[in-house]
Amino acid sequence: MPKTSPKLIFAFILLVLVSLRMVAFASEPVLRNKLHPGLRDFKKTVERQAREFPDFFFLSRPDIEEPKIALTFDDGPDDQFTPKILDILKEKGVKATFFLLGERVNQFPEVTRRIHEEGHQIGNHSWSHPDFRELENEKILAEEIKPTEKAIQQITGENPLYIRPPYGAIKDEAIKELGEKGYKIVNWSVDSFDWDSNKNQPQKIFQRILTYIHPGDILLFHSAGGNRENTVEALREIIIYLENKGFLFTTVQDLIK
Ligand SMILES: [Zn+2]
Repeated sequence: MPKTSPKLIFAFILLVLVSLRMVAFASEPVLRNKLHPGLRDFKKTVERQAREFPDFFFLSRPDIEEPKIALTFDDGPDDQFTPKILDILKEKGVKATFFLLGERVNQFPEVTRRIHEEGHQIGNHSWSHPDFRELENEKILAEEIKPTEKAIQQITGENPLYIRPPYGAIKDEAIKELGEKGYKIVNWSVDSFDWDSNKNQPQKIFQRILTYIHPGDILLFHSAGGNRENTVEALREIIIYLENKGFLFTTVQDLIK
């Protein structure tokens, strides 16, 4: 019998290790955007949190087999841009997820009702958009989560257990405590940067989504809280493009369940 060359064995082991690493890499949650230096710490933090709290904190659904993705819209509702976004979603038959602010739910109950009635998921984006890292867990729950939950529940009859922290920023202790209470903290894997007036021309938003999109991704947009004309303008083209690529749109709840 010919002797197996040690070089061949070494190459085989290397190949196995490389492929294992690739498998691990593909299923790790990431924030896909290339970010400027000021946001790199944020990226590191959220990727670590998604690895450390896989049942409580989500950037995406990296291990998904179907080409599903979730569009998410923060900071609504309002009576100016949110209805335009709802019109486009309705026209295209797309279900999305809206992370709403409690104080705006109070202000625009009709738009909140419409979001719910048209089959979109509603999540909790706090009452007044503070940075959760600067609040005690108790305050986060009592002053931001619970009142918003109540306001949404009064309108929709449903309890929103999915939370998007303002700025995507939250301390580990808060993730742990909220997670143990049954909440899911949901960030994103692709930022459209529609919130950044230096980068949010419709064509740039469109290009950015095209560049980064993968099955299982959660995409961040905004439906209120500033001039969202560019978001509205980019949205239809984005949906048409992704549809043609075979992507399926679903809610966050369905994506990460
Ligand atoms: Zn926000």
